[in-house]
Amino acid sequence: MKIELKGRKAIVTGSTAGIGRAIAEGLARAGASVVINGRGEQRVAAALQELRALLPEADLTGVVADLSTAEGSAALVAQVKDADILVNNLGTAHLNGFFEQKDSEWLDLFQLNVMSGVRAARHYVPGMVKRGWGRVVFISSESGVAIPKEMIDYGMTKTAQLAVSRGLAELVGGTGVTVNAVLPGPTRSEILGNWMKATAGEQGITQEEAEQNFLKTMRPTTLINRFTTTEEVANMVIYVCSEQASGTSGAALRVDGGVIRSIP
Ligand code: NAD
Repeated sequence: MKIELKGRKAIVTGSTAGIGRAIAEGLARAGASVVINGRGEQRVAAALQELRALLPEADLTGVVADLSTAEGSAALVAQVKDADILVNNLGTAHLNGFFEQKDSEWLDLFQLNVMSGVRAARHYVPGMVKRGWGRVVFISSESGVAIPKEMIDYGMTKTAQLAVSRGLAELVGGTGVTVNAVLPGPTRSEILGNWMKATAGEQGITQEEAEQNFLKTMRPTTLINRFTTTEEVANMVIYVCSEQASGTSGAALRVDGGVIRSIP
């Protein structure tokens, strides 16, 4: 199967690093025009420079906008009017204590992890429906199904994304637009990589050993016994964005290394 996305315009939110960066690269390799997004001018410029060096033929642009705010989302849509592919990748997590956490922390995470995607979908999906083709992907998490007790707020946002994704798929059924969620498991992205590096430094062990300890204590049901790479997650996303994936909509697709112990 050869995935060809020439002529399609894609937006990947939060794509200067981590999983988003790998998705942006994969979509560009498949021929799509790709819009990179991040909060900082320098980080967006650096990601663009790196990707352009890697893929000189690719059509890449950048938008600096903090999508955790309505103003940031408005800045994105003002600069990029239309898209055929929208990957709502932006998201973060913080370890926290349920009993100590403030209302504002819950609401801020909801804005960043959920509303960024809701606002982008609200703007871009009607155009996809009008043109009769579109792909929307929400990057959720296995934490949206197996809620981690050390970040219940994060689990809540990742379950919310599954609800939004499924609901939106229902709403646009039969239009040529598909909407799906992808659920990564522990992945060597920037945020988790930095966390594992810091843990390794503190404990005088290697990053691989820190990852193994994480899996043994926090995700013992893994079937692959390692973190996934950002590219492994991106591969699933590129597939659901392809012409060939036209039969898949409303799905929650796992790239979690088997962490979730259920069949469907
Ligand atoms: P990351 O922190 O490594 O990368 C996040 C990217 O988003 C960076 O480019 C960052 O600059 C950008 N960003 C952060 N806040 C932003 C904002 N307000 N506006 C615009 N850009 C912003 O993260 P990651 O681990 O690659 O995570 C990507 C997605 O995958 C998230 O939705 C996360 O919940 C999900 N996920 C990650 C893992 C994992 O193990 N890494 C597992 C499951 C799900």
